[in-house]
Amino acid sequence: MNSVSSVSHYSPDHAGLQKALGVLKQRFGELFQDSNALREQHAHTTTYLPLQMPDAVIFAESTQDVQDAIRTCAEYKVPVIAFGTGTSLEGGVNAPYGGISIDVSRMDKVLKVNSEDLDCVVQAGCTREALNVYLRDTGLFFPIDPGANASLGGMAATRASGTNAVRYGTMKDNVVNVTAVMPNGEVIRTAGRAKKTSAGYDLTRLLVGSEGTLGIITELTLKLYGVPENISAGVCQFPSVDAACQTTIQAMQVGIPIARIELLDGLQVKMVNAYSHLDYAEEPTLFVEFHGSNAGVAEQIEFFTEIAAQNGGSGIQWAEKSEDRNRLWKARHNAYFAMLAYRPGASGIATDACVPISRLAECVAETQKDIAELDLIAPIIGHVGDGNFHCTPLIMMDDKDEVRRAEIMIKRLAERAIAMDGTCTGEHGVGQGKRKYMELEHGSGWAFMSAIKKAIDPDNIMNPGKVIAD
Ligand SMILES: Cc1cc2nc3c(=O)[nH]c(=O)nc-3n(C[C@H](O)[C@H](O)[C@H](O)COP(=O)(O)OP(=O)(O)OC[C@H]3O[C@@H](n4cnc5c(N)ncnc54)[C@H](O)[C@@H]3O)c2cc1C
Repeated sequence: MNSVSSVSHYSPDHAGLQKALGVLKQRFGELFQDSNALREQHAHTTTYLPLQMPDAVIFAESTQDVQDAIRTCAEYKVPVIAFGTGTSLEGGVNAPYGGISIDVSRMDKVLKVNSEDLDCVVQAGCTREALNVYLRDTGLFFPIDPGANASLGGMAATRASGTNAVRYGTMKDNVVNVTAVMPNGEVIRTAGRAKKTSAGYDLTRLLVGSEGTLGIITELTLKLYGVPENISAGVCQFPSVDAACQTTIQAMQVGIPIARIELLDGLQVKMVNAYSHLDYAEEPTLFVEFHGSNAGVAEQIEFFTEIAAQNGGSGIQWAEKSEDRNRLWKARHNAYFAMLAYRPGASGIATDACVPISRLAECVAETQKDIAELDLIAPIIGHVGDGNFHCTPLIMMDDKDEVRRAEIMIKRLAERAIAMDGTCTGEHGVGQGKRKYMELEHGSGWAFMSAIKKAIDPDNIMNPGKVIAD
């Protein structure tokens, strides 16, 4: 396996596209839309990458709809781009070669909750918040929380995680099986609902993280968890990012089962204060949360407080009541909007990287040096229990030099994370933005990814221009 360019370069066929548009319009009626506004909304909007619109959007309402749309696209070799809620950050829903955006957001039902088995079956367009509202009276919840109210299909497709992955894992750990429509129009179910299986290749984990390049997920079975007896959240401030990282590392190493541990650097705290009317010291800060029995949580808090104090942590405030906790996490979840409000007119170019936790403090410190050297405004916020952090330069997009400096910062961060035996993206996915680092990260493994893609999608119609080499 010595070539990364084994996938055929997608070459648009104008006549084929026109025929496909005609067939799809007739089949889908009102569910087929090609206004500029809708096409634009279905291209990518939250990055520095240019907007690349699909030729039309289909609002699928069933697996059958997705299958019919894909069969037509396969016949005329037209690109197919799955769309969940469009919150991905690396150009995942852009359509560099045009084609059809298949929007699954109307497939939003919770189909079944199997309480005894701690799992549920949902349609791909159901969002994580909608699922948790549905589960409210069951004593169960779905933990993966990427901040945005993303679709569960999109979260599976990007192998998303977020604030509490440190305790509950990522989508990789929480998707039991998926139903997907493959590029030839066949519908597959990747596994049953058994907690474990050794029956052959793991197609579930092949599709989770494939970003719509291998098939479109229409249904998923997800793991659920019991709502803990006690949930306590707290805020602790530190004299340096290093002290906050050391606290995180030590807490993880001694095995405190932290549910969430989020680092905000001083600049990010300043932004959150201004946006959410809070008055934390503008210092590196950890937001933490513990789940368990009353006695278990009390013990975790005591242990964590001791470690934090040894690292100079101070001003710890705990919130046990749900309204206090919600206020705290709302401030954390609004961090992105707090950034945008801090520099009106600027775009936030969100990038993420992940390293083994022992290298976290060093990776953050070197990134902060880059930010200063390149004269950027770029807060850092991270799911540090996993060694994962985000850095978001706030850029005036018409200032070419500022864009260039942000690109240098992002490149250095991706390369540094890879050199530290980490990854150029812990959770945002590859899309278009991180494709340039794939060979560096995976070496000849990237060529194997291309070989898998070629075997499953020989005409390269599924989300071409993403993840693997064209
Ligand atoms: C403010 C903010 C904060 C964020 N924080 C986090 C975070 O902490 N952690 C994190 O992981 N992410 C985070 N994200 C990124 C984003 O929420 C995730 O990438 C999310 O998983 C995308 O889901 P979506 O439904 O919006 O997918 P989309 O953006 O619609 O699609 C994402 C990709 O998946 C493909 N896709 C979508 N649906 C399907 C499907 N049914 N079948 C196959 N392929 C599909 C698309 O083609 C595209 O390539 C954040 C985003 C924002 C805006």
